[in-house]
This record gives sequence, C-alpha cells and structure tokens, in this order.
Amino acid sequence: MNYVIPVPAVPSLPVAGSSARFPVHRIYCIGRNYAEHAQEMGAAVERTQPMFFTKPADAVVTDGADVPYPSATQDLHHEVEMVVALAHGGRDIPLEQALDCVFGYGVGLDLTRRDLQAAAKAKGHPWDVAKGFDHSAPVSALQPVAAVGHPQSARLSLEVNGTPRQQADIATMIFPVAAIIAELSKLWALQPGDLIFTGTPAGVAALARGDRFRAELAGIALLEGRIG
Ligand code: MN
Repeated sequence: MNYVIPVPAVPSLPVAGSSARFPVHRIYCIGRNYAEHAQEMGAAVERTQPMFFTKPADAVVTDGADVPYPSATQDLHHEVEMVVALAHGGRDIPLEQALDCVFGYGVGLDLTRRDLQAAAKAKGHPWDVAKGFDHSAPVSALQPVAAVGHPQSARLSLEVNGTPRQQADIATMIFPVAAIIAELSKLWALQPGDLIFTGTPAGVAALARGDRFRAELAGIALLEGRIG
C-alpha cells in the first residue's frame, strides 16, 4: 500500500516481562464509577446506566516520559484509574464472557482540564477539550492476565510529590470490569488494542508544572512521572 503522507505511528504500551509491546487502538473511559468521586463532583450516583467518553489513542504517554502541561487550562486535574487492555473485542459481549477479552491490567491518569470541563457542563457542550487533549493519558506498563489473573480487589492510589492524594480499593467500583466491557460493547464494536480507563475515586485535585506523581495499583502496576 502506498500512502500520500507518512503513516502515523501506532501508539503502544510496554508489557511487563516482555520485549513486545501492546498496540493501542482506542481509549474508552467511564465517568463517575466511584460513589465518593461522583459526590465530590456534585453528580448523582447512577448505578443503572454508565457514562462513557473517549480519548484519542495517541494521547497515551508511556515509558516514564514527562507529561507536558497542557495549553488552554489553569486547572489541570489528576484522576488515578485502573486501566484494562483488551486482547479480543466484539459487539454485545455477554457479561459472563467479558473478562475473556482482557489482555492485562495497568494504572493510568485520566488527566482533565477541569476548568474547561466545568464550562462544557455549564453549556451542555461535549467533553472532548476537557478530556481528549494531547498527552492526557499517561499509562503504566501492562501486566498480562497470565501473570496477575483478574484482580477483584486491589488498592488504587496516587501520591503527588510524596503526599497521598487519592486511594480506594477497586472492589468499590460501581460498575466492575466485566460490566464495563459488556456495556461498552452495546455501543461500540470493541477491538483488540482497546484500553479502558475504569474511573477514579475521590480526591481529584490540581497538578502544577514540576509535580512528580506516583500512581499504583498495588501488586500489579506502577506509574511514575513528572508534569513538564
Ligand atoms: Mn476519569
């Protein structure tokens, strides 16, 4: 195949215990998946219908690279989240088969221009400028299911400059991983290479230039980096 311009690079993540990488197809995110975070955002806790949004695949930041402070915001926020990577996809995936789609697990930050998100909410506008900006998705190396299974309970936490900011157990998610995959597959045909950010617990707050962050899914994944 010849192309009229150079083919864009495939975004990818490192895989623990392997020199091969995980190619990223799409990034799906669920909002308001921990009750205390929904409450801190002034949103209702909705347990019947999940709320989804997306980020571009090339928003991933990997391998410990600095995260450039984004343009057009005065209020960059961290949201630490477990990240699920899919090896298989499909449409209308039954709940009981959903975990069979998972390649592995990691931890990431759903970086958010909170001021632009507040403005979008006030006007009923979409969230793309608040959520889908360049470098808005730092993600750790992935741990394959073969190594860690499917974690049902693990401590998810974030420190900034050595100070705790967020922590919760993933067991307290309103929609667990299998339910998220089943619900997403009603709306999109999921594909190998898709990533899912599974929502953030309470404690979201601002990041400043020069801040160092340490996000951890205990026993599974660690992400350390710096805001440039
Ligand atoms: Mn989030």
